[in-house]
Amino acid sequence: MNNVAVLGATGSIGGSTLDVIARHPDRFRATVLTAHRNVEALVALCVQHRPQLAVIADAAMQAELARRLRAAGVHCEVASGHAAVTAAAASNLCDTVVAAIVGAAGLASTLAAARAGKRLLLANKESIVMAGPLLLDAVNRGGGALIPVDSEHNALFQCLPPQCLPGQQPALRKGGVRRLILTASGGPFRGRTRAQLADITPEQACKHPNWVMGRKISVDSATLMNKGLEVIEAHHLFGAPADAIDVVVHPQSLIHSMVEYDDGSVLAQLGNPDMRTAIAHALAWPERVEAGVAPLDLTACAPLQFEPPDLLTFRCLALAFQALREGGDAPAVLNAANEIAVEAFLAGALPFLSIADVVEAVLAELPAQAVVDVESLCERDRVAREAARRILRNAC
Ligand code: NDP
Ligand code: MG
Repeated sequence: MNNVAVLGATGSIGGSTLDVIARHPDRFRATVLTAHRNVEALVALCVQHRPQLAVIADAAMQAELARRLRAAGVHCEVASGHAAVTAAAASNLCDTVVAAIVGAAGLASTLAAARAGKRLLLANKESIVMAGPLLLDAVNRGGGALIPVDSEHNALFQCLPPQCLPGQQPALRKGGVRRLILTASGGPFRGRTRAQLADITPEQACKHPNWVMGRKISVDSATLMNKGLEVIEAHHLFGAPADAIDVVVHPQSLIHSMVEYDDGSVLAQLGNPDMRTAIAHALAWPERVEAGVAPLDLTACAPLQFEPPDLLTFRCLALAFQALREGGDAPAVLNAANEIAVEAFLAGALPFLSIADVVEAVLAELPAQAVVDVESLCERDRVAREAARRILRNAC
């Protein structure tokens, strides 16, 4: 039996993970569930999955969580606060940790799971973007494994030679790999001009054509920052330099990514756009389990299209490549500025196109420094957020 902690259980990835787990009660058990503030959803999940521990990150909600769980007849342990989420990730209650908290808020618990030698299923891409080398070092020292859940990286993992374990050795030097090709749907605004993007609302940005996701990643998909974060994630996971990572827009989202080899072979992983495939692969690897995903009917698919990304309209992708090439803590600065800008956009306080302006201004203000340790990285994250907030205030 594999005991699984689902961090961010009430989110989109959390829900898909619990759906896969529930299909295999003889194999997986959700022993730890965490949420931020959504007590109602967490209680409903506890009723269904009967974990041993439920954690609410917002400590002010602990009493309400305990009361509602009692009323629902659930008698699990209850904890609260961010430190409790981190402790849960390293606890003996789980062998596997699904890191599905959104944003930099997921870094501490992701690192804790890695240090504790858990099998770490990584959805929380922001943590590897921020702290790539530190996270990989923690995985290697902890003696566990890192398995990508992000669909593109899960696809790359499936297409790479079997000796290319994420985070262990530069993949490109092994097995004759020449190039990693990340596919991007292009988001809801593919093909639009800058002028057509001036008045985009949060609701429009969150309406992704192919995937149902949380609001932050939906906006990142619309700006193409999500693909930028994924380029950095691929660099860390598979040891690929920026020049060996390409992005191609593929609006049908059926090919989830590709690996090109020296002999010209290109291997692709295909599937319907449903995160349960990647999650099931990561949960069961190296075996395979049923995920509840409809079989892919290629004869019913529209012709598959491919086009280059429009880096002038969707500048966030270019900024992410820039941060990756700068190296050091530039990706962490990029991520922090983006989180603040997206928050402001979702609150109606920043135009869609200005998300890239804020990120660019913060990157210009904070030239890359070497990453020393987690503490200095978190301090840098704080400074970058402060800079982004100041730029936002001055812009209004
Ligand atoms: P959601 O917004 O749907 O869910 C986020 C989860 O994290 C919720 O459980 C939320 O709790 C919790 N959370 C939010 N803030 C905090 C915090 N400060 N402390 C502790 N917990 C917190 O996000 P998604 O599921 O869409 O995305 C999760 C991660 O997975 C992101 O990093 C995203 O980039 C990545 N990812 C997502 C994909 C998708 O298809 N959705 C695909 C690939 C990667 P509460 O409900 O209480 O607010
Ligand atoms: Mg992805």
